[in-house]
Amino acid sequence: MSITPLMPVYPRCDVRPVRGDNCHLISEDGRRFLDFASGIAVNLLGHSNQGLITAIQEQAATLMHVSNLYGSPQGERLARQLVDHTFADTVFFTNSGAEAVETAMKTARAYHQSQGSDERFEIITFNMAFHGRTMGTISASNQTKMHDGFRPLLPGFRYVEFNDLDAARQAIGPHTAAFLVEPLQGEGGIRLASKEFMQGLRDLADEHDLMLILDEVQCGVARTGMLYAYEQFGITPDILATAKGIGGGFPLGACLATQKAARGMTFGTHGSTYGGNPLAMAAGTAVLDQVTKEDFLEHVRDMSARLRSRLEQFIGNHPDLFIEVRGLGLMLGLQMHTESRPFVVHLRDNHGLLTVAAGENVVRLLPPLVIEDAHIEEFMEKLSAGASDYHP
Ligand SMILES: *Cc1c(COP(=O)(O)O)cnc(C)c1O
Repeated sequence: MSITPLMPVYPRCDVRPVRGDNCHLISEDGRRFLDFASGIAVNLLGHSNQGLITAIQEQAATLMHVSNLYGSPQGERLARQLVDHTFADTVFFTNSGAEAVETAMKTARAYHQSQGSDERFEIITFNMAFHGRTMGTISASNQTKMHDGFRPLLPGFRYVEFNDLDAARQAIGPHTAAFLVEPLQGEGGIRLASKEFMQGLRDLADEHDLMLILDEVQCGVARTGMLYAYEQFGITPDILATAKGIGGGFPLGACLATQKAARGMTFGTHGSTYGGNPLAMAAGTAVLDQVTKEDFLEHVRDMSARLRSRLEQFIGNHPDLFIEVRGLGLMLGLQMHTESRPFVVHLRDNHGLLTVAAGENVVRLLPPLVIEDAHIEEFMEKLSAGASDYHP
């Protein structure tokens, strides 16, 4: 058998979407699916948001791309929006989440090296983390399934238990440069950091002059009901990686930093050909214009509360299948007694409902943030029907 034209790294299912309709996807064979996956937390405005479509169409017709050799009114505008709405003083735009995390890690190392502390390069990361698929970001994760076939990993990482502040404290040494943590782990199984843990990391970082880097590639951009999840913990990071939802479906990421943290990121130290081009900036601006409105965030919190209470009730009726509901905002997980993948497949193939498996035994729910009551109704009907005729 010869290799497929598409490099066969994804075990793709036979749902072949060709069209989006708000919170639904339509496949090549005409089937209609309720999309509670959103391209893995990407399509936060759904699939046919007019503001986003118009912004991309108009920018494509005006100016798609220029080099970062030139001034960028489009980039300045989006960077200003992010600076105004977050802890950050400065922003570097990328095309993906992994690149945003790479930039964050380089920023943290450059912070120390720009003041002569070349020995401070090590980044402490946490079990079950997911930071992307580049050599640097797989090295930042302790998940060996992402390492197999690609060793040797890059040096300079230490892994400790998530939510274990003592372990994080004990891992600090003369080489430590930073902590890198997802406040709400996505791929790892919708695991929420505790407030004590996040505040403790902040305190340790202050005490030892370490950079606190947050990976909010999945949980950021209004997903948790706040623009960024760190707001839920009463702390601010030094550096933050964002992507996925920020382009609403257009490939876009960003590394946000304080002025202090970005001190090593000077002329010529970093770059990207596409990063921050006018087309991407138009998409990002259209998303930010919508999600930063207080009534948008309130809608997310409101939908989250409704969905969550329905889910709590639902799992109470199925204690044989489910253990708990967890997560924040519209980034929720249903923890099962057994492996979640077969149930995700069952919901998809037999009930027209798209969800994502996470960790070992969690069904991840990442609906578009624009869902309404009717979508929650449809979701609960499909989920209940799916639980009733599921026989693993
Ligand atoms: C998806 C994800 C990434 C990687 O983003 P890509 O755009 O796939 O490179 C990094 N961190 C987290 C937390 C993610 O969920």
